[in-house]
Amino acid sequence: MAPPADEAGHDPQKWQDEAEERLAAPRRAPGRRPTVTADAYLVIRCDANDPAASDGQCDTEHSWPVRVAHHTELRRLLSTRGWHRPRPGRDICPDCWKQGRR
Ligand SMILES: [Zn+2]
Repeated sequence: MAPPADEAGHDPQKWQDEAEERLAAPRRAPGRRPTVTADAYLVIRCDANDPAASDGQCDTEHSWPVRVAHHTELRRLLSTRGWHRPRPGRDICPDCWKQGRR
């Protein structure tokens, strides 16, 4: 974009200052918050019914200590820790599996 010739006396220094300011803070536009890049840790929750739990539902949750890409990968990892997935949409924690709550 070329500076308008007849506006503000065509001050080259002013345009230079503005350009440097924008280069120094390219993502700090007013009213715009910095992008949040924190990793979201995926969690699998047990879907078994547990008569001993207050709401009748086992709410055991399990995640993985390092970032995994998606739930399919997380389930594959958790299957090495005793979690089961007898059918789609139903994840069973090791304790429930052992006690027959499937
Ligand atoms: Zn469970």
